[in-house]
Amino acid sequence: MGSIVEKRPCNREFVSLAALMSRELRNEKIDKPFVRYGCAAKSRKGEDYFLMKTECHMIHGRNVSSTFSVFGIFDGHNGDAAAIYSRDNLLNHVLDAIPHGLTRDEWLQALPRALVAGFVKTDKQFQSKGLTSGTTATFVIVDKWTVTVASVGDSRCILDTPDGVVSELTVDHRLEENTEERERVTASGGEVGRLSVVGGPEIGPLRCWPGGLCLSRSIGDMDVGEFIVPIPYVKQVKLSNGGGRLIIASDGIWDALSSKIAAESCRGLPSELAARQVVKEALRTRGLKDDTTCIVVDIVPPPDNTLPPPSPPRKTQSKLRSLLLKTKFRGGSASKLSKKLAAVSNVEELFEEGSAMLAERLGNDEMCGSTTSGLFTCAVCQVDLAASEGISVHAGSIFSTSSKPWQGPFLCVGCRDKKDAMEGKRPSGVKVV
Ligand SMILES: [Zn+2]
Repeated sequence: MGSIVEKRPCNREFVSLAALMSRELRNEKIDKPFVRYGCAAKSRKGEDYFLMKTECHMIHGRNVSSTFSVFGIFDGHNGDAAAIYSRDNLLNHVLDAIPHGLTRDEWLQALPRALVAGFVKTDKQFQSKGLTSGTTATFVIVDKWTVTVASVGDSRCILDTPDGVVSELTVDHRLEENTEERERVTASGGEVGRLSVVGGPEIGPLRCWPGGLCLSRSIGDMDVGEFIVPIPYVKQVKLSNGGGRLIIASDGIWDALSSKIAAESCRGLPSELAARQVVKEALRTRGLKDDTTCIVVDIVPPPDNTLPPPSPPRKTQSKLRSLLLKTKFRGGSASKLSKKLAAVSNVEELFEEGSAMLAERLGNDEMCGSTTSGLFTCAVCQVDLAASEGISVHAGSIFSTSSKPWQGPFLCVGCRDKKDAMEGKRPSGVKVV
């Protein structure tokens, strides 16, 4: 817009301010999808909790703000305290880790790292209460057409797009099915095995000892090995203007239904009815064996959308999409190739990372954590640190040769201890809280 004005110095050719504002408002309206949502649940143990929050405000700078929505499922175990604590605190902990004054694009790019910090802070603070329960957490932020999902545990989030492609935006952190996680836990000093009666057959799913948990990542769980980490798998995608449907649910659904069947079972129904239908279908298939909770979120174009309709399904899309889903993008910036591929698919993949190493997830940033007061801030719990107190997340790291120990982000002593424990560098059972 600015360059057009510069090339045409004649005032008569300027677009009036009113017209510009009206155009911006129109663009904003077209640009912003409707978010419709519904939830259904059947309780057996009373340990599933959920969060649905729309119209959350993010201030991007002077007089500039935008709204986003948050949805979450927290499937607790050994009690409900961790699930309730995470539902009530995780969002604030994530937002605390986002620097002030970012543009909208910058805030979206900052989200993956803030989600990691928020999950670790929530875990650390919950553990400091001395309560022994734990929880899965699947946490979804919808900002216009961009969907960012962070999860630990096995409460899955799937995406169903208008071209009929169903994809998973989370990975299941279950020892039984996730070989990579099994290897990580074993390498960090955990023992993986099934329950067995002496001399009798092994029963049930693979579990990790000490603790006997079937999950390899969770929030809480102070009585299991510290290699059961709260570092989430994070995926960020941008939907086309055709929108899409998210189905976020606890394992009560996914133990009964595949992602594809869950998506197909509720197509065409409005979100509230769709959530009820998915729960009904799961109960019909397997009965009420576990807490079963389902949130359906429809991200749909506004009714007066003048943009062209989404392209019809093509046979090649599934193939390209499966290629895309295997591609790993780091640092939030998609490569030229990915953008080219994404132009064919209806979903643009912006970010994907699942590493359990905190140093890899917080990245390199010389400026990170520096405040205007000259103090540093812990990248996880956000406490202020004097320059001499901060320990670089990379200090002693063997994972990056390019990073330097004096580079940020920095951690406080407590968070540095937690990082070491999560990487198996501290004997299990020794807790610093
Ligand atoms: Zn800290």
